Amino acid sequence: MFESSLKQLGDALRAKQISSVELTQSYLDRMAQLNPELNAFITINPEMSLAQAEAADARLAAGTAEALTGIPIAQKDIFCAKDWLTTCGSKMLHNFVSPYDAHVISQFNNAGAINLGKTNMDEFAMGSSNETSYYGAVKNPWDTARVPGGSSGGTAAAVAARLCAAATGTDTGGSIRQPAALCGISGLKPTYGVCSRYGMIAFASSLDQAGPMGRSAEDLALMMNVMAGFDERDSTSLQRDKEDYTRDLNKPLTGLRIGLPKEFFAAGMGADVAKAIEAAIAEYKKLGATIVDISLPNSKLSVPVYYVLAPAEASSNLSRFDGVRYGYRAPEYGDLADMYEKSRAQGFGAEVQRRIMIGTYVLSHGYYDAYYIKAQRIRRQIAQDFVAAYKQCDVIMGPTSPSTAFKLGEKGDDPVQMYLSDIYTIAVNLAGLPGMSIPCGFGNNNMPVGLQIIGNYFDEARMLNVAHQYQLATDWHSRAPQGI
Ligand code: GLN
Repeated sequence: MFESSLKQLGDALRAKQISSVELTQSYLDRMAQLNPELNAFITINPEMSLAQAEAADARLAAGTAEALTGIPIAQKDIFCAKDWLTTCGSKMLHNFVSPYDAHVISQFNNAGAINLGKTNMDEFAMGSSNETSYYGAVKNPWDTARVPGGSSGGTAAAVAARLCAAATGTDTGGSIRQPAALCGISGLKPTYGVCSRYGMIAFASSLDQAGPMGRSAEDLALMMNVMAGFDERDSTSLQRDKEDYTRDLNKPLTGLRIGLPKEFFAAGMGADVAKAIEAAIAEYKKLGATIVDISLPNSKLSVPVYYVLAPAEASSNLSRFDGVRYGYRAPEYGDLADMYEKSRAQGFGAEVQRRIMIGTYVLSHGYYDAYYIKAQRIRRQIAQDFVAAYKQCDVIMGPTSPSTAFKLGEKGDDPVQMYLSDIYTIAVNLAGLPGMSIPCGFGNNNMPVGLQIIGNYFDEARMLNVAHQYQLATDWHSRAPQGI
């Protein structure tokens, strides 16, 4: 049952082979057994999950169930969920019980899915290893001495260890795709504006996007059917017709043009990663695709551009955490300014403070033109590179991450090394494009390798088709960590 797809689980529930309460309880039992070591969840609340499961069973009995009704789905702790502790991985929100649901959460609730718990994450989604979480590092289920990636590392570890049927993530610079790659699962960051950001705690608003993480492209498509859609409470939510993201899954790939950016295949990628990516491209040729060499000349600037723009937006977004209305407040302080200062100094971890300082600096008078405005200009050029590339190809492929999962603590004292983990993913966020990662083999130490598929705007259904056809022909996505 822990290996069943979302479709199989939905069929079993509707055929009354299993009840949602039974299914939810089996996942809760598995979590109780495996989560203490993996630390994939910040909050588990069996009572609330089981109450939802009972309601789902009533709906199943009444015959009004939808595709995901009764299926246990975990939620990244960045999504506000009514009556659930919502921490965003930070001491700053260690006591924040959300009074409302994020749009994505209410979509899952309306679909009758079960909230199985809130997954661990890097503090305020800043990180690539899950080590910045106030709630401790998450372990990679393939090797518990290694990181799961970040910032959606709790979600990736939970899905890989079969602690939930699927889960949500968010991606500002790679936080869905990179942990998906490092944990051997599938993940999709949709086109900016496709999933509402309402109730998703903001990091860098012009880049943040929610998306599904699961064991197969088919599962991601079913999740997208629930998560995507217009929401008037998010001013950047796009008003588009409802889509069925499963509609193209079974189309053949004959004639598909795959662009390989020469900049992605240059120095920097591990030899083990390169080997797995080349084998995946060879498989796509067998499936009928043709290869086109392309160039994204400005993509090499994406990491420096991101580390100006994302901290700038974060410094503004995080100014709301002041110890006044909710969240952490320093126990002892003098006047009001001292209360702000102490609460923020004690409530935020080192990486978050570093980003607030960088962001405040690049937005300050005298430096704004030199850094922020310049970065915005290059951001536009990075996006234009993709527009030009899509005149020659239908999808772009390359590695998701330059290496497989590294050891816990390995990059802890070197932020720049950590930032380079997202060298292949960040350009996609800067351009607002959809990107996904699917498992395509194993590298050194038998750790999973992820293949990145980048689509044109709103091409999610086609990308899911491209991923699904590969998953029909290979079995990397169904491999499970040993001993789990
Ligand atoms: N690793 C990147 C960062 O630290 C991206 C994080 C994300 O996508 N949320 O900012």
